Amino acid sequence: MAIREIRKIGDEVLTKKCKEVKTITPRTLELIDDMFDTMYEEMGVGLAAPQVGILKRIVTIDVGEGPILLINPEIIETSGEQTGDEGCLSVPGKAGEVTRPFYAKVRAYDEEMQPFEIEGEGLLARAFCHEIDHLEGQLYVDKVEGELHDVFYGEEE
Ligand code: ZN
Repeated sequence: MAIREIRKIGDEVLTKKCKEVKTITPRTLELIDDMFDTMYEEMGVGLAAPQVGILKRIVTIDVGEGPILLINPEIIETSGEQTGDEGCLSVPGKAGEVTRPFYAKVRAYDEEMQPFEIEGEGLLARAFCHEIDHLEGQLYVDKVEGELHDVFYGEEE
């Protein structure tokens, strides 16, 4: 288990477009393990590879319904709309209101490079959109309506 350092806003790695994963190597599997470890350690609901400095199209998500791994994910269908607070491990201590689709369907590959589709509503749909934006070098702060505001997490020292 290895926790990787999370890159913060201002780091240019977060502004770059990520490359497709073509083959799964032992290093890819190690990266995926580390991404889950780092996401759980930091109590995030999602993490994209560029947030740990790797420009590959890999996303980990867990909104409380179990771990989801997305390799080369693409949003293939959306519907509805939701507006609510969004935060990001790369923008610590802040949140802001973002409008996203209420429903999203994603096509992606698993760690054996088998294609699959997954759909989500509410927080899961928001996480799909937020994390896939990271792979395009986009941060939610550019989509915030109004101002970012401070958030206090009771468990932080
Ligand atoms: Zn994020």
